[in-house]
Amino acid sequence: MFLPRPLQVIVRDDDVSALTSADGLWELYGPAWERRQPVCLFVVPLGSPQIVEARPAPGPMTAVPLAENVDLCDSINRAILEGQVEIGLHGLHHSLGEFDIPDSAAVLELLDESKAIIESALPRARLRTFVPPRESMSASARDTVLEQGFNICAASTALWSPSRWGWWLRRLSRKSGWPGFHRPISLDDTRWLFPCDEYLFTAARHPEQCLKRARWMAVWCAFAGWPLICVNHHWELLGAGQSGLRRAWWTFLVDLLEMDNVQFTTFNTYQPGHSRAN
Ligand SMILES: [Zn+2]
Repeated sequence: MFLPRPLQVIVRDDDVSALTSADGLWELYGPAWERRQPVCLFVVPLGSPQIVEARPAPGPMTAVPLAENVDLCDSINRAILEGQVEIGLHGLHHSLGEFDIPDSAAVLELLDESKAIIESALPRARLRTFVPPRESMSASARDTVLEQGFNICAASTALWSPSRWGWWLRRLSRKSGWPGFHRPISLDDTRWLFPCDEYLFTAARHPEQCLKRARWMAVWCAFAGWPLICVNHHWELLGAGQSGLRRAWWTFLVDLLEMDNVQFTTFNTYQPGHSRAN
């Protein structure tokens, strides 16, 4: 892979919860951690099997607080201390429509409860970035999350609702494979919106196609001067029968790690245009 200009890379893994195995995360991100590069883990404070279901059945669920997975919390706490993991917030239960609600007081309650559970398990986590569960949040939830000082990384449609023309344009661009990366937007230099419409390594595509597209996106983002946000679901990559997808991810990750003009960064520390090669 040849990059025409320096590239910043942010690795984002979603749906980390008490049900996540520390060994599984190490399997996916070990190459980065061995080279002391950071990975952003977006945590669901109350874990349950419905997190990974596209359409979970409504009704009560048994939820496991993050702290109950002692192995996971120990290894994340160590990695935070070593500056190799940044923790972000990814809902409370990750249920359907959880943040797609108009009541900002209810959003505040969700945020407070989520933060309290994570901070009790991961006391050194600096929770400053939010990813809405299931790529869905109301405009008032978005504004409340921003008022609380968070950056947000989400699909562009979750950050600003497009007009009818915008929806049509978006459908057309997705159909024709146009890159789903955008310039991050700074809000008064303290918070950022990171629109990202791409999941690069997904079981929905053949691993070879994932790798080819990821390389193309790296070139695209380098050329545009935007960060390449690699969004993964560890449970998808670690799923049975996904060894090809894992190999494709490792190939891409190691390629990036070995390039002189690639800098790994995080949402909390992102600075536009800052790169080792500058
Ligand atoms: Zn998620």
